[in-house]
Formats: sequence, structure tokens, C-alpha cells
Amino acid sequence: MERERANLPRNMIENSMFEEEPDVVDLTFPALDPDEVAYEPRSSRLLVRGLGENDMDEDEEDCESSARLLGMSFMNRSSAHRSNSSPYTRQAPPRSCSRPSARTMVVCVLFLVIVASMTMVLYFLPGCTFTKTGCRKENKTTPIEPPFPWSQFRLPHSIRPLSYDLTLNPDLDNMNFTGSTVIKMVVLHNTKRIVLHSANLNISKATFKVGWEGVCVCLQIRSLFQQQIALNFSEELKAGQYCVLTLDYSANLSHTYDGFYNSSYTDKDGNKRVLAATQFEPLSARKAFPCFDEPAFKATFLIKINRKPDYMTLSNMPKAKTTPLNNGLVQDEFEMTSVNMSTYLVAFIVGNFTPVSKNVSEILVSVYSVPEKKEHTDYALDAASKLLDFYNDFFEINFPLKKLDLIAIPDFLAGAMENWGLITFRETSLLVGKQSSPLEKQVVASVIAHELAHQWFGNLVTMSWWNDLWLNEGFATYMQYMSLSKPCVCSQGNLFLAVRFRALDKDALNSSHAVSTAVNSPEQVEEMFDSVSYEKGASILLMLNASLSGDQQFRKGIIQYLKQFSGLNTDTNDLWNSLTQIEVSTQHQNVSEMMSSWTSQKGFPLVTVSRKGDQVTLTQEHFLLTSDNATHTSSLWNIPVTYVSDNCSLAPECRQLFTLKTKSGKTQSINLVKWLKLNYRNTGFYIVHYGDDGWAALRDALANDVSVLTHEDRASLIHNIFALSRLGRVSFRHVLNLLNYISNETETSPVTEALLQLNKIYQLLDKRQEYSLTYILHHFGSLMDKQTWEEQESVSKQELRSALLETACGLDDENCTQQAKALFKQYVDSNATSRIPGDLQQVVFNVAAQSAEDWPTLLNLYGHATYDAEKRKMLRGLASTQDARKIVWILKAGLKGNLIQTQELPLVISTVCKGFAGYLFAWDFIQENWDRLIEKFPVGSFAIQTIINSATSQFSTQAHLDQVQGFFSSLKERGSQMRSVQEALETIRLNKRWMEKNLRTLQKWL
Ligand SMILES: [Zn+2]
Repeated sequence: MERERANLPRNMIENSMFEEEPDVVDLTFPALDPDEVAYEPRSSRLLVRGLGENDMDEDEEDCESSARLLGMSFMNRSSAHRSNSSPYTRQAPPRSCSRPSARTMVVCVLFLVIVASMTMVLYFLPGCTFTKTGCRKENKTTPIEPPFPWSQFRLPHSIRPLSYDLTLNPDLDNMNFTGSTVIKMVVLHNTKRIVLHSANLNISKATFKVGWEGVCVCLQIRSLFQQQIALNFSEELKAGQYCVLTLDYSANLSHTYDGFYNSSYTDKDGNKRVLAATQFEPLSARKAFPCFDEPAFKATFLIKINRKPDYMTLSNMPKAKTTPLNNGLVQDEFEMTSVNMSTYLVAFIVGNFTPVSKNVSEILVSVYSVPEKKEHTDYALDAASKLLDFYNDFFEINFPLKKLDLIAIPDFLAGAMENWGLITFRETSLLVGKQSSPLEKQVVASVIAHELAHQWFGNLVTMSWWNDLWLNEGFATYMQYMSLSKPCVCSQGNLFLAVRFRALDKDALNSSHAVSTAVNSPEQVEEMFDSVSYEKGASILLMLNASLSGDQQFRKGIIQYLKQFSGLNTDTNDLWNSLTQIEVSTQHQNVSEMMSSWTSQKGFPLVTVSRKGDQVTLTQEHFLLTSDNATHTSSLWNIPVTYVSDNCSLAPECRQLFTLKTKSGKTQSINLVKWLKLNYRNTGFYIVHYGDDGWAALRDALANDVSVLTHEDRASLIHNIFALSRLGRVSFRHVLNLLNYISNETETSPVTEALLQLNKIYQLLDKRQEYSLTYILHHFGSLMDKQTWEEQESVSKQELRSALLETACGLDDENCTQQAKALFKQYVDSNATSRIPGDLQQVVFNVAAQSAEDWPTLLNLYGHATYDAEKRKMLRGLASTQDARKIVWILKAGLKGNLIQTQELPLVISTVCKGFAGYLFAWDFIQENWDRLIEKFPVGSFAIQTIINSATSQFSTQAHLDQVQGFFSSLKERGSQMRSVQEALETIRLNKRWMEKNLRTLQKWL
């Protein structure tokens, strides 16, 4: 999944985990007389009921009323022959179960034979359990099952689903749906219960049979804690038995952005259009159909959707057939998935969409949008086609499905979601207009690259559990940057470098976590979708690739891994082992040994360089930003340290490698050089301190000639010295001394990094009303003045220009604001037909939003804009207003969700927080509306992380620290335990300490 860019949330999931209380009443089946038992396969008495045709005994009435007391729907009885339920009407419960007859007995005998043969097949069939290593030997011994009822978060592994047959009847007029799910499964260990997931579904009927042809029996369903339901048996199901569970249910389409949710948009004629779409990752497939909703429970899926004839449907697989139904509806049936897949990758959509399509290596690639945006899909189709070819070659495994759809959904919270064969996108992430800038196109290409990489990394080979989410997201993030330069889709720009810097900043905090870390609650699953899984994951893969011997070693290891575990589930060690196998064959290094130090512990090292003559000593310690100076860790990393010197510093051949595994190490003697630069091109995930002399030498070198280092190395020096200042290792004076060279800087990444760091400090000062604008304008003024306001083709120059001009106009630089105002006027006068270059739109809308007359004009433009990327820039502009009444209005509008979609609220809040006028309003707003916020965005989700971070990261006083601490601790189970709360508190303490130390220098220098 691609989280929404610009700190936007990944997805929005209704927080319903607390809705289900653990049961206090035991609802196991009532004890039965032996003669009530239908049959006893393999001498295990299956607790089933066979009653006379029209009987209903007291036991059953008791069951029913008990269940009603518990607020559960459950099925009482069923017959072996179920009538077909009609769409949109709940089927009345059949009157009874059938009594076991002679036929039943014959079936029982047959069943025993089948079970015995199946057991043998299962035993000898490789991969017949969900472990990657083939059949479990433990089949022979039953693991001890935890006591029941339980409140376990994980499902037991005694049952494995094999296939799902889903029939769905979505009613878009009434915003609800009914469904029927048939799950075929196999018993892996003897068990008396089947536990699976179901959330917010009213199950009206449940039938169960052992063997494909067994007799249907009525079942009771228990609702458990953690969105689980259970079927209890008084006697064990035996390992090797096959069984079929059929569940009929109804539910409302979700009003948030997860599960099977409804969504609407206004078309170009002003008509409201409705649609229904799915977003299941991580925990929401259970809201659309009862299922074993954990990534390791892979199965096949056959999906049927009933619809009105004027809608269309899409799912993971191509449509097999469309059949008219009696009630004026038609049924679309999709082919059964040709691969086993995890539940979170299932997807289906009902609505009105139009495709553009193309055949690529015998796969039909289509891009769908709402009809009026069809002309915005060409670029995505082209990019997806090139990337699909690229990945087919790169992984040496062809995309395994027959078709690949990419669809832009008008109302979608995440950036995109990699559902196998049906990738869903926010419109901004997929659609580009003819006049879109190269930068906007690059964003679209990179999101497609990310989601396509998932079709292999994530979909074909899936992490066993969410603790290793980084295997999906770190890899897809890495490929999203690495793949773009290859098929010439577009240039890579400087995004990946900046992304790695931000990952270091987050991972430096004590509240960070190991890449692979324990996950034991829904909140913890949500919290895994963070910069550690995505950006740090990608960064350590880059570091590994850069340190391996041959240039194809990394790729060979990846191919080996994908082939070995195709269709299976893995953990982090499996990846390292595959890479080690390849690398060991060339007598090089043990990848497992090196990489485990990066995935099993949080944080990263600070490498300090000291030189005595030609002897260089490197020492490592945990780079831990903490306000508590006494905190130490003894963590050590296996660091592939790279370095260049003034003898040779630019070409890849200049790079030397030294592996630092211990606390300190001496490199082989280095010929006398003026300076050393470590972490060549910043491919390593560490920060370097050169000591006073080392920094002075680098500073002098840059002052003489900026081109002695690559631009990545220059940017990394800037990033590292700001980080060291925050750590308290260098004074801020040293930072400013290094920055003296910046007026000679020509490249984008050093300038944007310096601006970003200075802006962060400026934001802190601004919130304390310490104005000092001159430094930035003085040092960057000449670069700012050089920028033109015409169309610009180079992505890198666009990045540079938009960063410089947004800062200049944000600091009220007259020259900048005049130009921006003129462009806005021209735009409005032309009735929004004249063109503002894509990379300048944001600065133009920001400036316009500061004027009392232009703000309503911009709001009006926002209301009518159809192109999503432009629309969001308008919204950011609107939220950047410094007018208190407008700020309050826009926050409320975002929460209400009419004029401004609720999906945009995190963006609104983070923009409002940047300004002096809004940051306190936003903080009050969050406190007042906390409960409504966590209804929209689950506790721990990326949206909530964004909201907390943007509201609190600019506080630097004790009073604010007390307030933030007080508020979050009052929340208790409504969010007090979130990692992002710890991060917020730490950040405020660090800000406070930094300000105390540096405010005087700043007042003097800035
Ligand atoms: Zn992803």
C-alpha cells in the first residue's frame, strides 16, 4: 500500500475494534443426548443436531434467546437443500434440520473413506499446510489449545482455509449488502473449534458439513473478542478432515474508507453518483465477508456480484460470465483466482467506470476512471505498461494473472492499494492531465511502480505476519525509486534521498522501533504503516545493494527469494538467507549476519571519525536523540562504511569499503589526505561526525569548490550537521559555518535539505514569536531571485524552484508575492483556463489565500475543480490562511465532510498547524474532537500519526509539554498508548532543550 503523500494517511479505517465486548456468557452448544448426534466420523462426535422436520425444541429456543441477549445473529437450523436467497431480501430461516437418514449413514461411511484418503494425500502433498516448509510434522501431535473462550488476537492454526466462494448483493440505493460465503477448509490439527474473523456482519445463517458432500448441519456462532467468531464442537474435528462452512449475512456498506465502503462523487453535470469499493489492508476483509483474516491464511477466491444492469463491477480476476437474475439484476461471476492469496488483497468494485486498455506481454492492462476523466488516464496506462515489462524482466517471473486493472476512485484515503490484479488509487495518484507538470507525472509513475512491485513482493510472496510488514513496504518503496530510472518512465529526481533523511530523523527517537517488531493488537498493526517499515526498510535495502560485491548480486538474491517462496509466506530471515546463499557463493559476506543488526534493533549508528596521521579510527554508538542524557544503549551494528577522500571523491571507483562490526575499528592506513567523506552518496543508513578538524576541512573544501563532492554527499553533510546539532554534539555556530558555502550551491538536493532544516527551526521560532527572517533571505536570496515563473521541464529544477519560492513567499518576500499574485489574477481572469505551471500552483494558491478577497475566490475554484492534484493544492492554499475565522471554518468543514472530503482532514490539519495563526486552534480542535477523529481514522493509523505529529511537533515549552501529556494520558484506551504519543512528547522535550541551548545564537545569527 502506498500511504498518501505529503504526510497523508494510508487509509482510513473505522475504529470498531472496541465495539465487541468479550462475552461473559458461555454459549457453547447445549449438551445433547447421544441419539441427537448425526454421525461420528472417525469416532469423533461432531456436535451437530439432526431434528425432525418441524421440530423446534426448548434447547433451540434457549439458544436463540441467549443469542439475542448477546446481540448476535445466528442461524438455528438448515436443511441439506438450501433454497437460493434472492438479492436484497433476507432469507427466512428454514424451519428445521434434517434427521440423519439411511442416506446419511451411507454418506458417513463414504466420508470416512474420503477423510482417510485425504489425510494420506495431505500428508504426502508438499506445501499442504500454510507453512512454507511443506507439511507440518506436528500433524501427528495435537498442540495444546488455549482455554476457551479466549481473547487471543491471533487465530489458531488448527484449520486452514482452502477456498472462498463469495456471492455479494450490494444495494447502492440503500447502502447495504447481503452476502454468502462458502469456505472450504482442511483440519490441520485435531480441534474442537473453528475460529475466524467477522466484523460488523449480521450472520443470519450458518451451515457446516464435513467432507465436500457431507450433510449440512445447523450451527451456532459465537461472537468473540477481537472481531472473531467461533464454532464450537463438543468432539474434536480430526486432522486431515475437509469441511465446508457456509455463512449468510447482511451488513451496511461502510461509511468510512475501509471494508466494503460506499462512496459518492458529483459528475460534471452536477449529478450525484454512487459507488462501492473495498479497502481491506490490513484488517478489514472481515468487514465484507467472514474469513481467516491474517496474511498467512492464503486461499483461492471465486467472487460473484449481483448488480443493476447500469452499473459495472470489477474484481481481482477477469469476468467469466454475466447471468440475468429473476429480479431485474444481473450476476457477474469472476474467474476463480489462479493463485492462492491473502484476504487483505481481495478487492471488488461496483460503479460506473470507463477503461483504456492495452495488451502487454499477453496481459490486458487497463486504467479505469470515472467517465469524464478518461482523458487523464493515458499517462498511467503507458507507465504501467512499461513498468510491467520491466518487472517481468527484473524478477524473471511473469505477472501471474491474466489482467491488471488500475482504477482511480474518487473518494479514497490511502495513496493506493496493491490488490492483486485490481490496484486501487486515489485520483491524484493515477490521473494526470495533459498540462500536468513532469513532477506530477513522476509522482504518478512512482506510485504505480510501488504498487506493481507489490504484485510480486507482497502478493506473490507475503509476510507471514504484520511484524514483518517492511518486507512488503520497504521493498515496494525501494523499487518505486529504483525502477523509475530503468524503463525511462521518468527521471528519479531527488525524492529518495530526501526520504532517507526523514527516515533517519524519525528513527533517531527513542520512541522508534525495530524494523521487524512484535505486533499484538489492531493498533499495533496500524502503527506498522510508518516510516520505519516504508522508508527505513527501503534505505537498508539500498545500503545492502550498494555493499554487495557484484552489481547483480542483489537482484539474483531477490529472484532466488521470490522463486523459492512463490505463493507462500515468509519472515525477514528468509529474505536474508536467500541473499546470503547468493553472496556466499562468491565468498563474500554473510548478509544475514549483517542485516539482522539493522532489522532486529531500533535506531541506527553514529559513526565518529578520528585521524592520527594516516591512521583512521572509526567508532560507533547509537544515534539516540533523547532529552534524558543518561539513556544509553549498547546496540552495535554491522556497518558497511564507505568513504572517499580528496584524492578521489566523485566516481564510484573512488569508493572504499570498511566493515565496522565492533565498537571501534581502524581502517587500513590511508595516504595523507586533506579530508575524508564517509557514507559515499549517502547510501548507508548512518550519520557521521568528523570532529572539529574533519568538519573544518570539509567546509574549506566546499568553500573552494562545491563540485569536489557529489550533490548527494553535499546534502548528506548538511543533513548530518543539523542532526548532530540536535544531538548536542556540535554547536549551531558550526552548522551556520558549513552553510556559508550554500550561496554557491547549484544542485537541488543540498538546497532543499538546507531549506527544510532551516524552515523547521524557523517554525519553532515563529511559534515563540521570535522573528528573524533575514538569514534565509540573505543566504538564499540570490538563488530565489534567479528562479523564473515560466514553464520548467526538468523535474529537479522544478523541485528546487518550488522549494525556494514557497519559502520566499512564505517569508513575505515582496518580489515573490507580487509574481504569485499576478499569476493568480491572470488565472482567475481567464476563468481558470490559463495555465499556472504545475510546480508553481502551490505557491500561487498559498499567496492568494492570504488575501481577504482572493480566499473566497479560491474556495469557489476549489468547489468546481475536477482535477484532483490541482484541487488539493487549492485546499492546502485555503488551509494556509492566517485568518482565525477561516481557520476554524476549514477545520470544521474537513470534519463534516461535505464541502471538503473527510479524507482530506489530515492534510487540512497539518497545513493549518504550520502557521502561527492556526497551530493552537488546531491543537484545541484535536482535543475537542478526538472521539470523532478516531471514529474516522483508527487509533494508531497513519492518519492519526500525521495529525498528532503535525499538531505537536512545533511546541517547545514546558507549558505545552504538560498540556500534551495531560491530554493524551486522559485518553486511556482511546489512544494514550500509541507510539506517536511517545514520539510527540519526546519531540517537544527535544525542542525545548534545543531552544534553551541555541536560542541566543539564533537570535544573533538568523
Ligand atoms: Zn505499499
